[in-house]
Amino acid sequence: MQNVILVSHPLVQHKLTLMRDKSTSTKGFRQLLSEIATLLCYEVTRDLSLDTVHIETPLMPMQAQMLAGKKLVFAPILRAGMGFIEGMLDLVPSARVAHIGLYRDPESLIAVEYYFKAPSDLGERLVIVVDPMLATGNTAVAAVDRLKEHGAGEIRFVCLLGCPVGIANLHKHHPEVRVWTAAIDPELNEHGYILPGLGDAGDRLYGTR
Ligand code: URA
Repeated sequence: MQNVILVSHPLVQHKLTLMRDKSTSTKGFRQLLSEIATLLCYEVTRDLSLDTVHIETPLMPMQAQMLAGKKLVFAPILRAGMGFIEGMLDLVPSARVAHIGLYRDPESLIAVEYYFKAPSDLGERLVIVVDPMLATGNTAVAAVDRLKEHGAGEIRFVCLLGCPVGIANLHKHHPEVRVWTAAIDPELNEHGYILPGLGDAGDRLYGTR
């Protein structure tokens, strides 16, 4: 699959299996999502460019490397995307956060927007959209549409679970958006849930069912 990066790191796979297990508690699910978010953040930022700078260690001067260029924006799709934010900010504390309020209409499965708030300099930043589940892809497409309308240039997408239909839908509308995911499950059920999946990520994260 083009423009899809499967993060097969054993720690990610182990934690994902615990998250899929229906006996995992809300507290455990939240903790695991935060931990996987940190690991996925490490992967999605792997190719960030570096500048060489002059510093002095306690022993001598040296040329050393620091992040260069674009600053980051994490863009969680509410509400389940918020489960990624602590874990990602642990790794990149200076990143900004753009909140995108979208929900799936339960009948049509179409994305409905209810909130959008992003930094004004989106075009100068690398925008990393986060949502645990890339299911139909409708909310992912709508989120990227809105970010582009607000000037975003380079956009990446990070999820826990994708499925072929959702990835194809996102790439039909936004072929250049690379997707980082911990797994790709085969199909969706009639309600748009990923199978075998992990259930409703928002409900499991916040204990609302
Ligand atoms: N959203 C979820 O929370 N779970 C799915 O399986 C699909 C979409």
